[in-house]
Amino acid sequence: MADQDFPAGELMRGKRGLVMGVANSNSIAWAIARQLAVQGAELAFTYQGEALERRARPLIESIGADIFVECDVTNDTTMDNTFATLKDKWGHIDFLVHAIAFAGKDQLVGSFVENTTREGFKSALDISAYSFVDAARRASEIMNDGGAMVTLTYLGSERVVPNYNVMGVAKAALEACTRYIAADLGPRGIRVNAISAGPVRTLAAAGIGSARHIFKFNKAASALQDNTDPMGVAGAALYLLSDLGLSCTGETHHVDGGFHAIGMPREEPLGEPMN
Ligand code: NAP
Repeated sequence: MADQDFPAGELMRGKRGLVMGVANSNSIAWAIARQLAVQGAELAFTYQGEALERRARPLIESIGADIFVECDVTNDTTMDNTFATLKDKWGHIDFLVHAIAFAGKDQLVGSFVENTTREGFKSALDISAYSFVDAARRASEIMNDGGAMVTLTYLGSERVVPNYNVMGVAKAALEACTRYIAADLGPRGIRVNAISAGPVRTLAAAGIGSARHIFKFNKAASALQDNTDPMGVAGAALYLLSDLGLSCTGETHHVDGGFHAIGMPREEPLGEPMN
């Protein structure tokens, strides 16, 4: 149902939040943003660079959002400006969506132990894990008690996925960060969760070597025998960011067609003999 919205409702009416990571209409952050808007949320967005601004602006305007701030998560000045803008325009926010990750293409191919450089490791962990700690701290300073935060992760944090390499390490760190942030902000009733999405065709996914094989194998070996629908990820985010998610925090919630639950695929998962 990728192009259809869930039925309109009031789950997020009166709530305001920041969505980080919309690059284009295929972005997971966009699927989430659309469904938050359909449920009445008021949204602000960040973008990185002029090219992305051109691609993302029409999407963002299509849902009537007018706070659209340039932000590179490795640049403190742009992070300061993003949260100062939110404070200035809204005073307080109720939720944060963090859907940002990056590793150099040379880090996402072949042997992990051979190809992971110090710089590649630092930058992957900085952009893909530390950025959530930084954004969560800044967001918490203007977040109403009882707010919620969601980040996006992938099974490559728990198991070896070919070519995912240093990004798997970054996602493991991101999931641990989620638990620590949840513990720190819990006394204020702020819930912090991660969604572990199965493979979705986005710009970020295109950067990972053997993406075609990953999609084919996930479809064949998952419990639902299908690839992950971004709408499923958006639905999970809606649950975790709205009052439906009360009492749920520090969790890594898999939305991957049940792929994570399978210990061993059925015989001939790819439709051809394996030997
Ligand atoms: P996407 O559309 O390419 O979104 C990734 C976003 O991260 C882009 O907007 C990108 O902007 C942004 N970003 C990268 N470096 C940044 C920086 N220094 N400062 C600010 N923004 C930066 O891809 P996506 O697949 O939706 O990714 C969203 C999240 O979902 C990521 O955390 C990803 O790891 C996670 N996820 C994806 C899948 C999947 O299969 N697609 C599965 C599980 C989890 P630029 O384009 O300018 O770099």
